[in-house]
Amino acid sequence: MEVFAVEGLPEVRSGDDLAALLDEHVDLRDGDVLTVASTVVSKAEGRQADLGEFEPGDRAREIADRIGAITGERKDPRFAQAVIEESEEIVLAAPFILAVTRFGHITVNAGIDRSNVPGGDLLLLPENPTTSAQQLHERLDVPVVVTDTSGRAFRQGQRGVAVGWTGLPACRDWRGEHDREGRELSATVEAVADELAAAANLVTGEGADGLPVAVIREWEFGDHAGHDALFRDQENDLVRQALAEFEYDT
Ligand code: GDP
Ligand code: MN
Ligand code: MN
Repeated sequence: MEVFAVEGLPEVRSGDDLAALLDEHVDLRDGDVLTVASTVVSKAEGRQADLGEFEPGDRAREIADRIGAITGERKDPRFAQAVIEESEEIVLAAPFILAVTRFGHITVNAGIDRSNVPGGDLLLLPENPTTSAQQLHERLDVPVVVTDTSGRAFRQGQRGVAVGWTGLPACRDWRGEHDREGRELSATVEAVADELAAAANLVTGEGADGLPVAVIREWEFGDHAGHDALFRDQENDLVRQALAEFEYDT
């Protein structure tokens, strides 16, 4: 397979037709998978916001104060309010905010970015990145993965993850297949949408490169079962359940 970034894309603005922009800058082939950084999807969808738009409620003030007490750096309560408004649930309020977005992705600060945001304070994630991916898919006719850079539990460092996808299953299910010893695999489900997002992130970078879109060429899902259950159900998510009980010890 080959992974390359699409060159020459301009600064994306609110209201831009992202599919048309991409059409101008890349010749897609059958079998390509397109990855698009959520940053530019958000920009095109007008998800820029100013801190001043968020009127902090009691919960936001409490979270900002708690983070301030722990870290010595007071969180802006308006920012806490923005995270609350973008979230279905706050999984952890301090020392940082870990939130479930309205579309089910769990990430720090509900994925609200403060980098690569011209002329505004904040950039919110797309309202529903899978819907955004579907709109690009309808126009460009290749599978689309909308990515974001996200941290991981247990490990240092961030990497690209899929926040929305269409045209391919998010997971490749190896259960029922066999290893080299003939043993049946009973648990292996490979999160291919995340793996593609991580590969794309290697070529798009995080800073000023100006490369929000990558093409993955000649990668095949193969003859496997697939499904879309990338985000764990709350009932099966032991870490999320444990965090709900967690109280940071100051
Ligand atoms: P995120 O991972 O989706 O939060 O996005 P990043 O802020 O990490 O940006 C990913 C890549 O897209 C980097 O190479 C940025 O320089 C680039 N990028 C961000 N916004 C724009 C834009 O409006 N136009 C172009 N051409 N590149 C952008
Ligand atoms: Mn981001
Ligand atoms: Mn990034």
